[in-house]
Amino acid sequence: MSDEAKTTWRKRLHRAKRVTAGTPRTSHERHRFRGTSMTANPKLPSVPVSAQIRDRIAKAKHRFHANDNISTFLVPGDLDALLDEVASKMEGVLESLVIDVDSDHNTRETARRVAKMYLTEVFRGRYVPAPSVTEFPNAAYLNELMIVGPITVRSACSHHFCPIMGRLWIGLMPNEHSNLIGLSKYARLAEWIMCRPQIQEEAIMQLAEILMNKVTPDGLAVVMEADHFCMHWRGVKDAGTKMINSVMRGSFLKNPALRREFLSLINLKN
Ligand SMILES: [Zn+2]
Repeated sequence: MSDEAKTTWRKRLHRAKRVTAGTPRTSHERHRFRGTSMTANPKLPSVPVSAQIRDRIAKAKHRFHANDNISTFLVPGDLDALLDEVASKMEGVLESLVIDVDSDHNTRETARRVAKMYLTEVFRGRYVPAPSVTEFPNAAYLNELMIVGPITVRSACSHHFCPIMGRLWIGLMPNEHSNLIGLSKYARLAEWIMCRPQIQEEAIMQLAEILMNKVTPDGLAVVMEADHFCMHWRGVKDAGTKMINSVMRGSFLKNPALRREFLSLINLKN
């Protein structure tokens, strides 16, 4: 065996040890290095867990776009199994980018870190149910404009998976039948919607819909202002451009004075 072959063999051995130690590899890799099939790694099921979940969603005829929540189709243990599966596939992406994850100490655990970040942090809003929100009857019959914000927005665009960072404001016109929710719950609901690969226009529509359902106000306004890093970091590399959009419902649509009052109070220039 030549020195080069010995080195390669040592790397393979190191890699195989890592597999049994719990870092799953791509099926292609397992095949190449160990001459075994995908089922050989006890950590990965013979039918990938993502396929099992997709199957359940298809049977229920539901959508599973990037900004849809799929938590009702998950069973206990799925998220851990998904983490193994995504880590394994991310490792394949790193290899295809020709990054030496065996020698480069900086990227050795990157695949798993990225998988964990996606599933449990930045895209968490796809995989967990909506935060529980206690609704209180509007006992004092509040019927004046109420504004919540700015709420910090942290999301990522569906097109490039680049960060979207910004702020949003919620304007509410309650009536005597409205349910009021605690102030912090607006931020929690917004976070649940934003922690998914998003499109800004769709994100605020989703937020407006959930608030209309929970609060049932006479009117609702949502304004979001955000930096899209796919424009700063790549593409046109325009550092100053922000995207601002709004959704107006009910009395905010019908009453220009109310709309003006809301927009002047949130004062977007600050
Ligand atoms: Zn983008």
